[in-house]
Amino acid sequence: MIYLDYQATTPIDDEVADVVDDAGRRFWANPSSPHMAGMKSQEAINSARRKMARLLACKPRELIFTSGATEANNWVISMVEPSPGNHVVTTAIEHKSVLDAARSFERRGGDLTILPVSGEGFVDPNDVENAIKPTTRLVSVMAANNEIGSLQPIAEIASVLKEAGIPLHSDATQAMGYVLEDLTRFPADLISFSSHKIYGPKGVGALYISDRFQASDNGVPSLLHGGGQEGGKRPGTENLPAIVGFAKALEISRKALASERARVHGLKSTFMDMLLTRHPDITSNSPANDCLPNCLNVRIPGVDAGDLMAAVPKVAVSAGSACNSNDQKPSHVLMAIGLSPDDARSSIRIGFGRTTTAEEAAEAALAISASVSRLKAR
Ligand code: PMP
Repeated sequence: MIYLDYQATTPIDDEVADVVDDAGRRFWANPSSPHMAGMKSQEAINSARRKMARLLACKPRELIFTSGATEANNWVISMVEPSPGNHVVTTAIEHKSVLDAARSFERRGGDLTILPVSGEGFVDPNDVENAIKPTTRLVSVMAANNEIGSLQPIAEIASVLKEAGIPLHSDATQAMGYVLEDLTRFPADLISFSSHKIYGPKGVGALYISDRFQASDNGVPSLLHGGGQEGGKRPGTENLPAIVGFAKALEISRKALASERARVHGLKSTFMDMLLTRHPDITSNSPANDCLPNCLNVRIPGVDAGDLMAAVPKVAVSAGSACNSNDQKPSHVLMAIGLSPDDARSSIRIGFGRTTTAEEAAEAALAISASVSRLKAR
């Protein structure tokens, strides 16, 4: 198999897998237990938190571990009480864990605005400025889109909101591995992260909650009720091995960030060139600039994405996001950038990653091109 679906998930790094295994064996005691063994477990979690905070340039207490970005996103939206006097702004291309949580907020009486995006998948900061009202309690705009890779102008949006004193949440799940280096250049108040997109274990993520937000009138209501873990903000016995592995994965991803970014971008460009040489009618749904370096979404006119994937079983790509793949509806992201349902259904996402070689990328481009020719000839 040639795995080209790195936006869906990444394989766990070998070194991370060892760290997870080791932590699970050594620190099995409950981190909340007051005895020595429990305190050692708590220290393993806090050491992972300190490491991540150092790499992200934030304070350890600003990072709360969760079960993943889905939980972090739901948690953020749940912080706003649904009532007509509470307004939330988000965008049409968010992950469903933001969008569906926001729609649920609206169904329960909240006031919701869903902003459109440009044909390249960008949110216009002017649209954000025009949408906010005195009752706006939260704006949620993702950092990098998981289907087309567009990177949003978070700094501009943050400066619009700062003047108005409105908190900004950003789902940085896809941005953490390549484009979000540290939080000094990413001025959001609340940020969601997930470990399995950066070669870490699955089932763990984090919500960054800035000190500024914690000190504001908003406070931080918990999503779950229970024990006092994570400073009482996120109860439930911590997934210690995964937390320790998440920190290790972040550390590893920072080691060769610039060179790896350039390398995957090179793979993506060559792959697209190879497709275009054989099928000049293929178009990119991903923006040419301000895009994740490893994400490429293409439209292949006249070819159904599902048929294409079935025709090249040895190449693992995706039609729409993995979370929606049981859903027969065309991708909400592709529809939001103006594609027709048919065009959306003839689009595939190709994601390159740490283990992708140039040979594999070329082989996949040839296999896909050959199948496109066969399907078109049918
Ligand atoms: N947000 C984005 C942008 C994502 O790509 C994903 C994963 N597909 C999620 C949220 C959900 O993350 P998790 O799998 O950690 O719940």
